[in-house]
Amino acid sequence: MEMYFCPLYSGSSGNALFVQYGNTRLLVDAGKPGRAIADALAGIGVEMETISGVLITHEHSDHIAGAGVLARRYRLPMYATAGTWQGIGSKIGEIPPGLTRVIGADREFFLGDIGVSPFSIPHDAADPVGFRLWGGNMSISTATDLGHFSEDVYRRIAGSDLVLLESNHDPDLLRANPRYNQLLKARILGDRGHLSNEACAAALLRLIAGGTKHLILGHLSGENNTPLLARRVSEAAMLREDIRPGEDVQLQVALRDETGDIFVLKETEQEI
Ligand SMILES: [Zn+2]
Ligand SMILES: [Zn+2]
Repeated sequence: MEMYFCPLYSGSSGNALFVQYGNTRLLVDAGKPGRAIADALAGIGVEMETISGVLITHEHSDHIAGAGVLARRYRLPMYATAGTWQGIGSKIGEIPPGLTRVIGADREFFLGDIGVSPFSIPHDAADPVGFRLWGGNMSISTATDLGHFSEDVYRRIAGSDLVLLESNHDPDLLRANPRYNQLLKARILGDRGHLSNEACAAALLRLIAGGTKHLILGHLSGENNTPLLARRVSEAAMLREDIRPGEDVQLQVALRDETGDIFVLKETEQEI
C-alpha cells in the first residue's frame, strides 16, 4: 500500500497537512478557514467528507482557526492533548458532543489504518505535540513550532521516511524587523519559540544520517524568511556534507498559501 502526504498550507499564517494510508485520510492541524481547507483538499481530489479526523498540535490560532467549522460542518473528530483543549477553550466555538478526543504525548493510538505517535515539542503552548504517523512500516513526521531541535524530538522522528521540519526564520532578518517588538523577537528566538533556518539545516543533516530521504521545510515566517533563503541554507549545509539535494535526498519547501506536491511513499517488501 502507499502512503500519501500533502502540505495544504504551512506557515505562520496557517497550517493544514493531509495524510492518507489505506482507507484512512486525516489532517494535521486546521489553521486556515474551513472553506480554504476544503478548497485545498478539493484541489487534490479529496472531499472533506472522506476525512476521518483532525490531529491538532497546539492551541495557537495558525493551527486551529478552522477546527470549529470542520467539526460543526463536517462532524470531524478533533484530537488534541488535554492541555491543548484547555488552551483552545472557547476560541473555536462549540464542538459537537463526542467529537473532542483527548490524546497524550507518548500515548500511541490508531486512527483507522494510520498509527499515530504524538510527541512533546519545546514550544510556548500548554502541551504542544508533533506527530509521527505510521502506514505499515512507513512513517511520516511533522515537527514545527520548535524552539530548538531537542534530543527527544530527534529520537522520536529519526528514521522517518519523510519529515516536514520547521525552517521558520532567518535570525538576522528577524532581529532587524522594525514591525516586531523586542518581546516578540525574544519569544521567537527563544528555546520554546521557532526553529531558525540554520537550526533546521543542522537537524536535517542528522535526520538524513538516520535514513530520512524526503525532507520538507515548513512553517516559514512571512516576514522573516523566504522560500529561497530557507532552501539555500539547507542545501548549503547538505552540500558541505557531500549530500546532493535532488539526488541523494529530496528537499522541498512547503509554501504558506499554496498547496504543495503530493508525496507518495511505497511500502518496501519486509524481510521475514
Ligand atoms: Zn505555528
Ligand atoms: Zn505555535
